[in-house]
Amino acid sequence: MNERDQEDEALIAVDSLRIVKILNQDGSHYGWAFECPGCDRNHHVTTGWTFNGDEVRPTFSPSVLVQGVEDITDDEADRILAGEQIPPRPYVCHSFVADGRIQYLGDCTHAMAGTTVDLPAVDVRRSTQATETVPNNRQ
Ligand SMILES: [Zn+2]
Repeated sequence: MNERDQEDEALIAVDSLRIVKILNQDGSHYGWAFECPGCDRNHHVTTGWTFNGDEVRPTFSPSVLVQGVEDITDDEADRILAGEQIPPRPYVCHSFVADGRIQYLGDCTHAMAGTTVDLPAVDVRRSTQATETVPNNRQ
C-alpha cells in the first residue's frame, strides 16, 4: 500500500465516525456528542446513558430529550425592541439513537418529527455547540 492510499483510508475512517468522545477538563470521560440534523447542532449524552461501544453505528439508551425555547427571529427581536411582548416558543427534540441512525419521536417541534435518518458523519472541525440533554424513560 502506498502512502496516498493510507491517507485516503485514514480520512474514510474519520468520516465514518458518528459520535465524538467528550472528556472533562481532568481527562475523565464525560460523554459523547453527535450532530442532530433536526436541530442542525450537536447534542451530547453523558455516561448516564448506556452505549454499545460502536462509534460508527452507535446505540444510546434511553432516548435523548432536548428541551428549551426557540431562538427569536430578527423580526421578533425588532418587535421586542419596539415594546411588543412575544411569548417564548417551547422547543423539543426527542429521539432514539440506535445502530447509527436517529429516530425522531412525534413530540419533536422541528420538521423531522416522526422520521428516521442516518446519523451524519461527525465533522470534527465543527464547533461542538452542544445543548443540554436528559435521559428519558417515558418511552
Ligand atoms: Zn436535535
